[in-house]
Amino acid sequence: MGSRHPNPRLVKIHRNYSVEEVARLFGLHKNTVRTWLKQGLAAIDERRPTLVLGRELWRFLHGRRRSAKQSCGPGRIYCIACRTPKVPAGKMADCTPIGHLAGNLCGICPDCDRLIYRRVNLAKIDAVRGDLEITFKQPLPRIGESAVPSVNCDSSQKANAHENA
Ligand SMILES: [Zn+2]
Repeated sequence: MGSRHPNPRLVKIHRNYSVEEVARLFGLHKNTVRTWLKQGLAAIDERRPTLVLGRELWRFLHGRRRSAKQSCGPGRIYCIACRTPKVPAGKMADCTPIGHLAGNLCGICPDCDRLIYRRVNLAKIDAVRGDLEITFKQPLPRIGESAVPSVNCDSSQKANAHENA
């Protein structure tokens, strides 16, 4: 199965890759790799077949990942379905703490009505908040504590799916 966010760790930086090999490595179509070449992935030279240094492939994929993360600015949550950061409907989001330091923002995509999630560092939440109205949920009860678990935002699984998507 292909991935829209190929993992740079699969790349061996000391070898060269042909377009076909890159496509196979990540389970992508060759045209996707050709698109990367147009988007700034540098080939070794102009000759055919096109070869790419592993190190260059790694650099390119890493840069893409970083820009994907950075493009999700304050007050926005990435919608997997729409493939763009969205200001959640009503500019509202719930935040469910995960442990002491992290939380899961949960909102609704204004365009496709899906739940959208963003993992946040609670210490830096003001940098993420933008002009959102954030409702803080109680942390999930620890095992052994008798509390009714919140079912409002059953998000940990989907949030993981988001991160791996
Ligand atoms: Zn959406």
